[in-house]
Amino acid sequence: MNKHLIQLIDISNLDKEIDSFEPRIKEANKELDVILDEEKVLKRELDELEATNKDLSLAIQKNENHLSELSNKLEDIAKKTKLIKTEKESKALSLEEELAKEQITFANEEIARLNTLISSKNDNIKELKNKISELNKNAKEVEQKVEKEVKEIKGEQEKIFKQKEELVAKMDQKIISFYEKIRKWAKNTGVVSITRQACGGCFMRINDKTYSDVIRSDDIITCPHCGRILYNEETKEA
Ligand SMILES: [Zn+2]
Repeated sequence: MNKHLIQLIDISNLDKEIDSFEPRIKEANKELDVILDEEKVLKRELDELEATNKDLSLAIQKNENHLSELSNKLEDIAKKTKLIKTEKESKALSLEEELAKEQITFANEEIARLNTLISSKNDNIKELKNKISELNKNAKEVEQKVEKEVKEIKGEQEKIFKQKEELVAKMDQKIISFYEKIRKWAKNTGVVSITRQACGGCFMRINDKTYSDVIRSDDIITCPHCGRILYNEETKEA
């Protein structure tokens, strides 16, 4: 078999091996990603709770302002009561007083209700913060583990990459750039073997002439259908 073709098969196998590390790196990162996603969800929940509490506090403030207005009003009514001259005036004022007192009761009840809500949200916030800090701790541990794993995988990958570089340096540069061009679209199937007279990349049947060329010729032959570089497994073994 053509020496260049043998090199191309080797290069193609090395490329396959180099790429096979990527899923392993992704897999190693998965555990960490799950924790980080969970943390993100909890943080969003925490932000929402804190925003709600802010709104509740503002509502309390509003009610407190209203209370102070109402207490001024009661003082006013008390002053006016001293100056009352007619029964009609007296009735009007006591009606006004009653209304203000009702509003005071309502505002106080509202404040109490809002405070209960805030305190229950605060419990939730505390719980969430605990969970987040636990996740954080967990994430840090997993991160260290993942970092170590990824470093190991990348180390192995680097070794294969060096092998490829050494081989590429020895090869005919025209042939390697021809291969790289095919690899751009064919990825790791740029160099394929023929099985039952069909291309191992596009699976189309190879005509007899090309087939016999692949078996006998010393040239580099490409698939007439897809353009991948072809070789015959048996010729290679021989
Ligand atoms: Zn093909």
